[in-house]
Amino acid sequence: MSTKIQWALIGASTIADEWMVDAIRSQPDAAITAVVSGNTDRAHEFAEKHDIPVHATDLDAVLADPAIDAVYISSTNEKHLPQVLAAAKAGKHVLCEKPLSLSEQEAAQMIETCAAHEVVLGTNHHLRCAATHRKMRELVRAGAVGTPLFVRVFHAVSLPPHLRGWRIERPDAGGGVVLDISVHDVDTLRFLLDDEPVEVSAMTSAGTLGAAGLADGVMGIIRFRNGVLAQIHDAFTVPYASTGVEIHGTAGSLFARDVMTQQPFGEVLLRDADGTHPIDIDHANLYATAVAQFHRAIRNGESPAATGVDGYRSLVAALALVKSAKTGEHVRVPGQFAR
Ligand code: NDP
Repeated sequence: MSTKIQWALIGASTIADEWMVDAIRSQPDAAITAVVSGNTDRAHEFAEKHDIPVHATDLDAVLADPAIDAVYISSTNEKHLPQVLAAAKAGKHVLCEKPLSLSEQEAAQMIETCAAHEVVLGTNHHLRCAATHRKMRELVRAGAVGTPLFVRVFHAVSLPPHLRGWRIERPDAGGGVVLDISVHDVDTLRFLLDDEPVEVSAMTSAGTLGAAGLADGVMGIIRFRNGVLAQIHDAFTVPYASTGVEIHGTAGSLFARDVMTQQPFGEVLLRDADGTHPIDIDHANLYATAVAQFHRAIRNGESPAATGVDGYRSLVAALALVKSAKTGEHVRVPGQFAR
């Protein structure tokens, strides 16, 4: 590896454009060498806009370049599997967007293939990189709320018009609110509670934005192994709600507002027997934090902020929510790779 970690972007996407190009470039030891798109004009336009030396539609040709150390995959979700497998087989470290894939089997295959080729696999669940969530996890671990009993997640937002497309129209691309938003909730809950979901129940709504049977709103309940019940409310269709998380325990409650977002802001309050205490938060760019940790995973063998297993565990719980909404039953979450 050269002194810089050289990245190829797979996917000329909005998330790469709006957040990840800057997050990668904010690392002193990173360079973006290539962008791969399914469309020549889009690849060219993206490369020009972001001053990326190589643009291509031939993924294999880019992966054959020994100078590339890592790939960031932000294509639509149905492409994640073949792209992760190709990158791993070419010996490239992989940071893949969420949902990691569209099925439990695909996600397991990604984990196994990356392990077999000794490359790092990370999932870009950015919320666990927020200073707010890190502080809440620390407080829960330190016993600030006593034994956690219940969590409520408020993540009903208005999907911006430029992000509508496949999210509300294409089941084959993993559209719908659950694989888009609830999967983040699950990862965040796993991170905050240091626990695994075991059973879920959900109801969805559709028809305001969602087409082709895709849900645009969901309310769900997730039971965790240690007994905590978490309630999630996610939507694409709600313009004026704020986001948040509340963790209620035997000795205190944490109230976090504006924390289910890409932006480095939000506030956290702790209420306990001594009163209500604002918590100091040292905010930092979530995506830059994720990339910095991914670099440490490549260089020093640390874990990425969210591993492939984290992507798998969050995906299988999200798929269980989808199944519950379809069947009207409580659904067990598969136990593979659980901690
Ligand atoms: P986009 O729709 O912007 O991009 C996805 C793909 O769509 C691109 O790779 C591109 O294909 C194609 N595309 C982009 N622009 C156009 C266009 N104008 N016309 C036709 N096709 C186009 O998706 P997002 O960036 O919102 O999401 C990409 C991935 O990132 C998903 O997996 C999503 O779940 C995830 N995501 C994660 C977030 C996070 O915070 N972790 C936030 C947002 C998204 P090609 O590459 O072939 O050019």
